[in-house]
Amino acid sequence: MAQETFLITGASDGIGAIYADRIARRGANLILVARRVDKLADLANQLHAQTGVHVEVLAADLADPEDLARIEARLRDDDSITGLVNNAGIAGESGFVDTDPAHLTGMIDLNVLAVTRLSSAIAPRLAKKGAGAIINITSVTALMPESFSAVYPATKAFVLAFTEALQAQLGSKGVRVQAVLPGITRTAIWSDEQLANFPPSMVMEAGEMVDAALAGFDMGEPITIPALPDNAQLDAYLAARAALRPNLSLAHAAPRYGVMQAVE
Ligand code: NAP
Repeated sequence: MAQETFLITGASDGIGAIYADRIARRGANLILVARRVDKLADLANQLHAQTGVHVEVLAADLADPEDLARIEARLRDDDSITGLVNNAGIAGESGFVDTDPAHLTGMIDLNVLAVTRLSSAIAPRLAKKGAGAIINITSVTALMPESFSAVYPATKAFVLAFTEALQAQLGSKGVRVQAVLPGITRTAIWSDEQLANFPPSMVMEAGEMVDAALAGFDMGEPITIPALPDNAQLDAYLAARAALRPNLSLAHAAPRYGVMQAVE
């Protein structure tokens, strides 16, 4: 098998750092991206020493247009990169009316724009090759936006819809595309106080979450919800959504609106 290389965003901490560890142990070379270059360098040295794979570090603020363009160019031009894990993301939103719009803009830049642009940079090359993988880390909040405020779950719903659309377009071309929906996972995205306020039965360790997500990847799951005990529930949700489809675009408004017009 040809040597694989994965570029992982947000690899300096939390879920991204665990992905780096697990993918290195599978024998793939790594390119680690985040802002805190010291943390990335420590992880790179450790993983290289433990696994022997080549690990490169790229410092980038993916909410910054110039930095993002630099990482896009690398994904577009470097034929050795066979996989992308779009993991970098922020939350940190209080109630919508209390949140600084600048924070919301930064969140959209990172959680939505960077995911879109990085996928767009690598997808044509992978599609042409008929191989490779894009793993997008979204969130269970994509399925329960009313329980969170307000832009964060919307960014994650974007990533879920985007990933499903990519699957439809790239799957038949041999590119593996997976959406991962973690529930509450013990990382620095939460304060200690926030984590302490959740029932322990709702909080997963990051290592277990990533191991389950990679097991789902190996099983060919397009959507992986690590905590979901019965995947038939997800299948039923997707089937209910699909059942709407024949009724979503029709020549006439539904009778309940009382506005149906004769066709002229
Ligand atoms: P985390 O521990 O805070 O790690 C976030 C990572 O993203 C860090 O490596 C951080 O590195 C990087 N990052 C943040 N801003 C960045 C920027 N502007 N440019 C480049 N990198 C940036 O959070 P996490 O929990 O592992 O989150 C990873 C992903 O999982 C996110 O997309 C999050 O939404 C998703 N998720 C998490 C949970 C959870 O409960 N933990 C649940 C569902 C989904 P630097 O600070 O060094 O840049």
